[in-house]
Amino acid sequence: MSAVDTEAFLRDLYDLRAIGTFKTGVHRPTYSPQDMEARRWLMAKLTECGLEASIDGIGNVYGRHRGEGPHLLVGSHIESQNEAGWLDGALGVVAGIALARAGLPVDVCAFADEEGHFSLSLPGSRSMIGDLTEEAIDGARNRTDGTPLREALRAAGLEGLPRRQLEIGRYKGYYEMHIEQGTQLEEAALRLGVVTGIVAIWQWRIVVEGQQDHAGGTTMAERRDAGLSAVRLLAAIDAEFPRLVGERTTWTTGRFRLEPDAPNIIPGRAEILFQFRDVSVAVLERLEAGLRSLVQEANRRERCSVTLEAMSLSKPALCDQAMQAALAAAAEDLAPGGWRHMPSGAGHDAQYMAKVMPAAMLFSPSIAGISHHWAEDTKDEDLAKCVEVLAAGAARYLGNNAPV
Ligand SMILES: [Zn+2]
Repeated sequence: MSAVDTEAFLRDLYDLRAIGTFKTGVHRPTYSPQDMEARRWLMAKLTECGLEASIDGIGNVYGRHRGEGPHLLVGSHIESQNEAGWLDGALGVVAGIALARAGLPVDVCAFADEEGHFSLSLPGSRSMIGDLTEEAIDGARNRTDGTPLREALRAAGLEGLPRRQLEIGRYKGYYEMHIEQGTQLEEAALRLGVVTGIVAIWQWRIVVEGQQDHAGGTTMAERRDAGLSAVRLLAAIDAEFPRLVGERTTWTTGRFRLEPDAPNIIPGRAEILFQFRDVSVAVLERLEAGLRSLVQEANRRERCSVTLEAMSLSKPALCDQAMQAALAAAAEDLAPGGWRHMPSGAGHDAQYMAKVMPAAMLFSPSIAGISHHWAEDTKDEDLAKCVEVLAAGAARYLGNNAPV
């Protein structure tokens, strides 16, 4: 392979940024005219690099290397959140172009709708591994305007195209480069993060049942206020969890609803959606045990009853050790002392690729950690360093240690 052309890589990134520009970011919701223009731009780029480019029935853009393997798959996504950043997703796909241009045996894929504009989770990568049914597509709608996914596919000119399935045996692994979307790297003045795994999300519904009653007529001693009991439980979780967590555990109350939600009525019911995330199953299990005992304690102490229901308990997607080691060695070569291992707190297409082949991720720093916002940015020199490390790591993993 030849050296990665970092100038061409940055030029490609800036060209893609010019499609659907919004302030300093982009607005390319899935299957919008801007998004489809970006997909056509990508097909032309892949073709220019000698790959056989195609788009499939869910909008996945795929560039297939024409030469001998073993092959790597490199990718991410190119649609954006609404009025969001120019690098989220685009970075990993354009990095794939750079590796192909350098002569590495890579296929490049932009998985459709990683950003979840439609009511499916990561439909592009799931479709590629055979984990997305026609019925699921039939039932999906745009989360913003309710447009059926079928209608959006028709309008985008994708209706009736076959959906591509990955030839799993073709690949030695999947690499995805992405912005960190946090501040860990920047705070430590580091330039790269070798991802250890993508956290699992354990999502719970907590329901507190009290007694709906009059806010004036019911004395304080008599009432069973579901809202107050819910708040006390959440405060107890917040006090207890720091004793149970790993280094990068997060926990979030994303929804807190009171019924009947009126100023003069004591809430009779509170519904809480609560989640925690970690990359270690042992930590997740410890948090679950902690949560269950706090709920039990609330049932003993409070005048309301509390129930806990698991909604979804996903598995962490661990990055492949050999693929990580290749990235780490390349990082140490090209940015000595300037990198660290770290988990990913956000979901990525890599989590589905990791189900069918070895997979690994590389993070670039995010300035001020801003993401899912048009101000999202990373320094050009960090982007360039990242793609050099990705190429060197990929070559190393393929067993080709020639200098990049
Ligand atoms: Zn992304």
